[in-house]
Amino acid sequence: MKTLCELLALASGQLENAGVTEYELDAWILLEHVTGISRASYLCDRDMSVSEQQEEQYMELVRRRAERIPLQQLTGEQEFMGFPFYVNEHVLIPRQDTEILVEEAGRILKGIDHARVLDMCTGSGCIIISLMKHYGAGLAVGADISEEALKVAVRNAEKNEAEVSLIKSDVFSNVRGTFDMIVSNPPYIRTAVIAELEPEVREHEPRLALDGREDGLYFYRHITEQAGSFLAAGGYLLFEIGYDQGVEVSRLLHQYGYSGVRVIKDLTGNDRVCIGKYMEE
Ligand code: GLN
Repeated sequence: MKTLCELLALASGQLENAGVTEYELDAWILLEHVTGISRASYLCDRDMSVSEQQEEQYMELVRRRAERIPLQQLTGEQEFMGFPFYVNEHVLIPRQDTEILVEEAGRILKGIDHARVLDMCTGSGCIIISLMKHYGAGLAVGADISEEALKVAVRNAEKNEAEVSLIKSDVFSNVRGTFDMIVSNPPYIRTAVIAELEPEVREHEPRLALDGREDGLYFYRHITEQAGSFLAAGGYLLFEIGYDQGVEVSRLLHQYGYSGVRVIKDLTGNDRVCIGKYMEE
């Protein structure tokens, strides 16, 4: 039987060799996932041994992580805005960058009573569910073209006890009604750039959630063009954007009748969110 300390060293080494950036942290998180042992108890007793069954289970996960399967697809979970989200290979893993979009949307929502909010391309549901939990809304709807993604979103709404309607829709094809806010983190990576991404993203996250077609702007164009028909006068459209898309997405919003268009940067100083207010009649 190996001790925790020996197992960790073995796993870290294998992950480092496989090119995993945060190999020590990942080795630890997987060990915690399998054994349930907290960091504190580990630090108290590094020579604790684990059962053979747990060792086997752990080394199997480490092997899969060495194949560059994302950590979160192995543990089945990613935290976002302080809430736990279930994830699998059918949804984009919630990114910390996206919290900027939720926080900005939340600031606006505070000023609207019983706001009706639509999340276009909801994926795991992390945006609409955390918005609902943190800031509340009169109506919260998440739409996605992928049935598999919607299953994940439904599971996450239940897990977090959030009242969110989840609908299958190819962009706006099945959306009905009027909203005070539409938020979206659509696929926005240029097709040619996908090949340059880390293997975790390129090979294991859904291409459907990443690929913004040739110029990366396909969904911004599509959504901006149609969103006005589903927004109340003075309603807001908020997008997460790529670091180099601020100028072009702002231009699109202006073109389709939005005012007060602004771009918000993320913590590293890159453009991350673009907002506009739909024309007041
Ligand atoms: N931010 C994600 C990434 O860089 C992409 C998200 C998206 O296309 N919506 O992997």
